[in-house]
Amino acid sequence: MKGGPEHWVREEILALKPYAVAPAEGMVKLDAMENPYRLPEPLRREVGQLVADAAINRYPDPAAPALKARLRATMGIPDAAELIIGNGSDELITLAAQALARPGAVMLAPEPTFAMYRMNAVFSRMRYVGVPLRPDFMPDLDATLAAIERHQPALVFVAYPNNPTGNLFPEEAVARIVAATPGLAIVDEAYQPFAQKSFMPRLGEFPNLVVMRTVSKLGLAGVRLGYAAGRPEWIRELDKVRPPYNVGVLAQAVAERVLAHADVLEAQARAIRDERGRLQDALASLPGATVFPSAANFLLVRVPDAPRAFAGMKARRVLVRSFHGSHPLLEHCLRITVGTPEENAAMLAALRESLA
Ligand code: PMP
Repeated sequence: MKGGPEHWVREEILALKPYAVAPAEGMVKLDAMENPYRLPEPLRREVGQLVADAAINRYPDPAAPALKARLRATMGIPDAAELIIGNGSDELITLAAQALARPGAVMLAPEPTFAMYRMNAVFSRMRYVGVPLRPDFMPDLDATLAAIERHQPALVFVAYPNNPTGNLFPEEAVARIVAATPGLAIVDEAYQPFAQKSFMPRLGEFPNLVVMRTVSKLGLAGVRLGYAAGRPEWIRELDKVRPPYNVGVLAQAVAERVLAHADVLEAQARAIRDERGRLQDALASLPGATVFPSAANFLLVRVPDAPRAFAGMKARRVLVRSFHGSHPLLEHCLRITVGTPEENAAMLAALRESLA
């Protein structure tokens, strides 16, 4: 070997900070927008039997017909749309960037937003353009349309609702952004179960729209399944980049079975939406705390000293995410996932004491 990896790995990869996942053993875990509820016991047993019977000696069916039929039946995917599945929607972001990364191609997104868009621009050597949101975290539509006109992006991401801000952009602003995008526009609806707003029914209106979703926030984060729907011409190209066995036998079977009981997940999402309202009020009543409106399963809160509040909560065994220092609009902001009522009570007590 001549020299270490620093001589061979791409400079922009050497310069990257790895995506940080904090150790959470023994903590009240409110850092990753997971659904805090487990499945009911009978359904867990059903899943257990399914796993026991699965042919794990075989590769998965790359076409995933049963799972795709189930997704179509439960997720309101228009008949004319084609579907692609990914190992989480994270992988679908990667595939889109890979497919569209012609030399000099631009990826554009409102900022701050989900960090993996920018990361994938780096991985795929796309040029990334972040258009700053307004201080209320709503898109600056004029600035966004001007940036699209100027940079002619091959790929635009809009998270609807947005992460880490939690808010839902106005539907017509998103429609204008999609319509103005010269390349592919992906509306990322990871938090759709909590916003109950979607571009899925409007897919037919926009030839360049792909709607991307995940089952992670619904309660299946550990399964790793994302899906995206759009015009067959677009999905076909993305599908060429997809590793054929990207969603395993167990993930396909478990997701298909659990989604057959979508009412269970919907009831959990409803409980989370209700709890979000209560939590919003409780956080707003803490001295010095500002809570931003959320259509997702988490709340963004600005506190007087986020590093101190984060450390105080961690010492009290409550894990949230601090975005302080990651973007100027997120100064002293903590992102807190909506947990069970008990978890939320523990979180509120820890935050109150940490703010004192
Ligand atoms: N999009 C957004 C906006 C997200 O917040 C996340 C997860 N934090 C993802 C996509 C990726 O989710 P997954 O890979 O679990 O489907």
